[in-house]
Amino acid sequence: MATTIPAERDETKFEDFKPAYTTHQARIEAERCLFCEDAPCIEACPTSIDVPQFIRKITTGNLWGSARTIFSANILGMSCARICPVETSCVAACVHNEQEVAPIQIGKLQRLVTDQAYERGWRYFESGEASGKSVALVGGGPASLAAAHELRRKGHACTIYEKREILGGLNTAGIAPYKMRADRAAEEVEWILGIGGVEIKTGVALGEDVTLDELEEAHDAVFIGVGLGEDTFLSASHEHLDGVYGAVDFIERIKLGRIDLDGVASALVIGGGNTALDAVRELVGLGVRDVRLVYRGREEVKPGYAHEWAAAKMEGVRAHWRTQPVDYLGDGCVSGLRCIGTDEGKKAIEGTEHTLDADLILLALGQATLASLVASADGIEIDGGCIRIDDDGATGRSGVFAGGDCTNGGKEVVNAAFEGKRAAEAIDRYLMGEK
Ligand code: SF4
Repeated sequence: MATTIPAERDETKFEDFKPAYTTHQARIEAERCLFCEDAPCIEACPTSIDVPQFIRKITTGNLWGSARTIFSANILGMSCARICPVETSCVAACVHNEQEVAPIQIGKLQRLVTDQAYERGWRYFESGEASGKSVALVGGGPASLAAAHELRRKGHACTIYEKREILGGLNTAGIAPYKMRADRAAEEVEWILGIGGVEIKTGVALGEDVTLDELEEAHDAVFIGVGLGEDTFLSASHEHLDGVYGAVDFIERIKLGRIDLDGVASALVIGGGNTALDAVRELVGLGVRDVRLVYRGREEVKPGYAHEWAAAKMEGVRAHWRTQPVDYLGDGCVSGLRCIGTDEGKKAIEGTEHTLDADLILLALGQATLASLVASADGIEIDGGCIRIDDDGATGRSGVFAGGDCTNGGKEVVNAAFEGKRAAEAIDRYLMGEK
């Protein structure tokens, strides 16, 4: 197995936040679809899944064909059905919204169909005839998995180099457990790799265990899908205190193991993005009574999704808006946060210093980029910390392609799935000598 998930994990305490449809419920929902000609829901999906077509097949009971429509566009269709922010993409684009009618629950329909495919062992794709070419894929997350699957369909040998011992990237280690658990992500990895012919090398880090030059020497093309790096910290003087963690690191511990929250009655999560919103909801789910967000701006300008924040508030999370952290309080263990108030422009206001109590503080201020791993390579350009690529996913270095968070700065899994597949198509053209 390419991904072995520990049995004992805190994430198993979480219930699924969106109960799945039964086949009967799905059919009733599917029959509300208008099967629009220029369906805006297709436009809203980065992978352009033919939504009306997969929904129409549900209405006729053709779940096998419906799943085929989904996976043909997005091989990560099972996880995307669970974790895509459909409230801001396909479901938000549904024409029913214009008539003030409830939009079609596209994500739940996609989930029913893709779950059926997994349960019934339906498979749709085979490896192509061997081309004699090989491709190195650096990173084992969604972008590389989507790229490897497409490359195998075209007959190219693939080797995934992953620095961790598990594959799946953020899908396995970072998705909020009430959306998808790690073992389900691992199942998807196995399902995708079921196409065969993908060699896996775990425990291999680019820049430490292997260089780009060595990969280019050993393969005919390289795809870089390394994602993002470590959590960003405040660089405050008391950052070393026990009880101060990066949010991404903390979420991974919940996903893949156990964390000791004994004695933690109150927690602060610094940041206003989606990682911060996941973290506060996970802390509440693990039984922390007092969980608060700390954000420099107003509630209206926080970058996290409004529907996620609404759900967090329903669960009892509170927030300190217009509050900038300065340093931590405590001796050995963290006991609070020293802060200062901010103005409309998120600038500190003198004389508004104050403290907030907390037994645990998580930082969700973003993650470092990993562009430095390839920044010195001739032809590769870095833009805003991201690897610059063209519309096909090609870098400026011949034979080197990239996609996913290391090129887009951190978007959704569905974006990585699209970028991986798009790069695979470009790699195929490159290997076959086409322009
Ligand atoms: Fe169906 Fe809504 Fe898409 Fe139209 S926009 S095809 S009604 S899901």
